[in-house]
Amino acid sequence: MAGSIRLFVEEALGAGGTVEVGGGQAHYLAKVMRQPVGAPIRLFNGRDGEWLSCIVELGRGRARLELTGQTRPQIAHSGPILAFALLKRDATDLVVQKATELGATAIMPVFTERSVPGRINRDRLAAIAREAAEQSERLEVPAVLDAQHLPGFLANWPENRPLYACVERADGRFIPSAGGEPAGLLVGPEGGFAPRELDALRFRPFVVPVSLGPRILRAETAALAGLALLQAPACR
Ligand code: SAH
Repeated sequence: MAGSIRLFVEEALGAGGTVEVGGGQAHYLAKVMRQPVGAPIRLFNGRDGEWLSCIVELGRGRARLELTGQTRPQIAHSGPILAFALLKRDATDLVVQKATELGATAIMPVFTERSVPGRINRDRLAAIAREAAEQSERLEVPAVLDAQHLPGFLANWPENRPLYACVERADGRFIPSAGGEPAGLLVGPEGGFAPRELDALRFRPFVVPVSLGPRILRAETAALAGLALLQAPACR
């Protein structure tokens, strides 16, 4: 049922099955969205497509849902990987939420010389990605990967996969809007990449420096604009 609430669950989804959700999701259904027993809820788990279910029990801290039929089969998703220099908390949250809406397959914070120092709460970011996937009708939740330092990140990047590195004020080309294998998008920190980081990027054959236009964008804007360009072929 289009428009009904969607929830990501871990359990397998199949004909005749039931799924139990606990704590946060049960509270969300009962108290936040005030759903009654009998309400239709769509479920997905990243593996079995999307299923329509119906609330059959709603108790304290748990809800039981009965599956009524598949609404979408699982289809392979091959969106870009977003690597971005760690930002302040609110901006990082925004990037994770919007990158999920824009189809990123994986999201990875990167430490650069000038990125905001700090710790990453991966569980919190994964919850933001999960909620954005529920809301944006995705069939899977992008992985929020462990943060890496830029040199290690470049050393581990598969050589046959293009990595579009957003570099302002450079003669980078524009992101090619032709499909192809999933690429990476790398965005620097508010202070920009340091000179030796730019050298390290130029040294790697898989790095394609790209421009997002003549204006200097905030890092979060650059991440979202770059992802919008990378997913444009999939819109046609
Ligand atoms: N403070 C820097 C700008 C950094 S912008 C300065 O004034 O020079 C933050 C990040 O966004 C950059 O590292 C780059 O990855 C990306 N970015 C911003 N504007 C861009 C543009 N026009 N083209 C490509 N990347 C851009």
